[in-house]
Amino acid sequence: MEKNVHDIVIVGAGLAGLRAAVTAAEISNKLDIAVISKHHPLRSHSVCAQGGTAAVMREKDSFDLHAFDTVKGADYLADQDAVEFFVRQAPKEIILTEHWGCPWSRTQEGKIDQRPFGGHSFPRACFAADMTGFHEMHAIYGKAITYGNVKFYDEWFATSLVVENNIAVGLTAIDMTAGGMHAFSAKAIIMATGGHERIYEFTTFSHTTTGDGMAMAYRAGAPLEDMEFVQFHPTGLVPSGVLITEGARGEGGYLINANGERFMKKYAPEKMELAPRDVVSRAEQTEILEGRGLEGPYGPYIALDLRHLGEEKINERLPLIRDVAIKLGGVDPVKEPIPIRPAAHYSMGGIKANIKSETSIAGLYAAGECSCISVHGANRLGTNSTAECLVFGAVAGEEAAKYALKNTLHEVPKEKLLAEEKRVFDGILGSEGSERVPAIRDEMRRIMNEKVWIYRKGDQLQAAMKEIRELKQRFKRIKVEDKGKFFNTGFLSALQLDFMLDLAEVTIASALPRAESRGAHSRVDYPKRDDQNWLKHTLAYCTKDGPRLEYVPVTITKWSPVARTY
Ligand SMILES: Cc1cc2nc3c(=O)[nH]c(=O)nc-3n(C[C@H](O)[C@H](O)[C@H](O)COP(=O)(O)OP(=O)(O)OC[C@H]3O[C@@H](n4cnc5c(N)ncnc54)[C@H](O)[C@@H]3O)c2cc1C
Repeated sequence: MEKNVHDIVIVGAGLAGLRAAVTAAEISNKLDIAVISKHHPLRSHSVCAQGGTAAVMREKDSFDLHAFDTVKGADYLADQDAVEFFVRQAPKEIILTEHWGCPWSRTQEGKIDQRPFGGHSFPRACFAADMTGFHEMHAIYGKAITYGNVKFYDEWFATSLVVENNIAVGLTAIDMTAGGMHAFSAKAIIMATGGHERIYEFTTFSHTTTGDGMAMAYRAGAPLEDMEFVQFHPTGLVPSGVLITEGARGEGGYLINANGERFMKKYAPEKMELAPRDVVSRAEQTEILEGRGLEGPYGPYIALDLRHLGEEKINERLPLIRDVAIKLGGVDPVKEPIPIRPAAHYSMGGIKANIKSETSIAGLYAAGECSCISVHGANRLGTNSTAECLVFGAVAGEEAAKYALKNTLHEVPKEKLLAEEKRVFDGILGSEGSERVPAIRDEMRRIMNEKVWIYRKGDQLQAAMKEIRELKQRFKRIKVEDKGKFFNTGFLSALQLDFMLDLAEVTIASALPRAESRGAHSRVDYPKRDDQNWLKHTLAYCTKDGPRLEYVPVTITKWSPVARTY
């Protein structure tokens, strides 16, 4: 097996991974840094971020207010020390990306403009029209490629993380253009592989967000934290699930049911459409379940009405949304409401990491959506994710660089590499069973959509667990038809499904015992939040019998939990 040696290997070239690369490269030009991505960096899901990036940029706003909004939005499950650090770092990141060329939208006086967003009590979403992630990514990628010591491995697929004596020593990755497996040896490794939303059928996320890094870290011994908390975004376009940014409501859009009512007045009389996502998604789901959804060819839906904003404002502030609604939804928002319903949108859980992005494995760091530093707790506020990717991407880059500068390389044991080669090429590509990968994948997504959705119930979660475990058995009998070496997407789909089945299992296993409703985890059999018993983080460890759970306390600094109303 060919071997590639670097000081730091970053897996993932989205906002978090690229931001980490820039900081690590800045810290020392002697560091040899690799960035591995299973597709071109500018196809990472971060490019799809639309509405904005949160940061305190005005005197009337404050760090305490941003931190409190985040903690309350999180239904008090966020670690408040991490939140306080996060809000203080975010403005700096906006200025940096500005210097690197991000064309932030402007006010009349030329300041970086900010729009309102759900759960934020001040308009603090900096935005570049409704293509914020697109512009941030181009600015940071443009910066990252100027460093002579950052090497990009585009279209390389990481399959496993190698850990020896609780030290991350390397990883394995397939060069997709040539088909062979390579060993990577590194002093420090940063996981920045994004979310796992594709375990669901109806999602706003790209086909590539299959949670690979979470699964790799989990299998290598790192615990996954708070995986029961999956965010459902209120406005997934029907039928594709493509996102209609919350910025559309930030600009003044209404949500309307079949009776023509702005129903949010029943659920969040003060914040209305700009209540946090868990609240709005539950309201929509309730309207649909109680028969007040509009009827369409793809089932019941809710109407997002932007008509009163007028063509000029829609064209200036929401050009992408208009384009997407016309092309993928068949409606022009200037003339008609957009058909939407809740869609799986964010993973609050992930690889457990601390405020320095360190995981429980020495030399392994995690940043961005694949991590759980617990800034978002049980429910993330919109625009806090891109901000988190920038802030903790930079932290991970710095910490990994410092670690790499004072540590040496470790041997990547040959037997582990051979075992991984065997698992991947003989076990998955070579498997000669009768099961089809797309069939198992669709089945998994249907189960997650039907039984592990916005409203959850113990018996349904039990049934989902049984069915996902049956799928895991069926996966052992798959057949990948195409046995080719080059760009074998069927083979990569199988590898991704293998990761996703583990993550679906962890999501359900973490949701089952949590006998309360908090943030995005809403149990009809336990409708109340229970701070006495459940103000704690779930940790899931990989064992051969499935996930083993442990619990750790939440860090509270300034804000004691109180009832959450909007
Ligand atoms: C449509 C949409 C709109 C959004 N809008 C906003 C918004 O306005 N504001 C906001 O704050 N948040 C928003 N979000 C959320 C936010 O965009 C994401 O949470 C964030 O961008 C994730 O960034 P990341 O760097 O963690 O991962 P990603 O951008 O998902 O990148 C993951 C990287 O990992 C690599 N990778 C994964 N697996 C492997 C593997 N096995 N081998 C090699 N490489 C691998 C991929 O190639 C990719 O480069 C939005 C999300 C969506 C889907």
